[in-house]
Amino acid sequence: MLSKRFAQTDRTRCVSCGACTKQCPRDAIRIHHGCYAVIDALRCVGCGKCAKICPADCITLHEREVQA
Ligand code: SF4
Ligand code: SF4
Repeated sequence: MLSKRFAQTDRTRCVSCGACTKQCPRDAIRIHHGCYAVIDALRCVGCGKCAKICPADCITLHEREVQA
């Protein structure tokens, strides 16, 4: 079952430091071509660990749309 929340990165503000990738318990974050972090929303469980560690404060958590 999917979690209620998932994380997203702001690609324009990410400094591709990689800190979030080390924090994620679900291994859901990749650095795309060394440029910015991308989160696999289907793997993400919305724990918020990545958002807390991000030095650029560019990760936000969002509610998932309720599935019928
Ligand atoms: S919210 Fe948690 S599970 Fe989702 S990408 Fe961030 S660290 Fe990983
Ligand atoms: S911790 Fe923040 S700045 Fe660093 S790679 Fe992740 S999203 Fe980008």
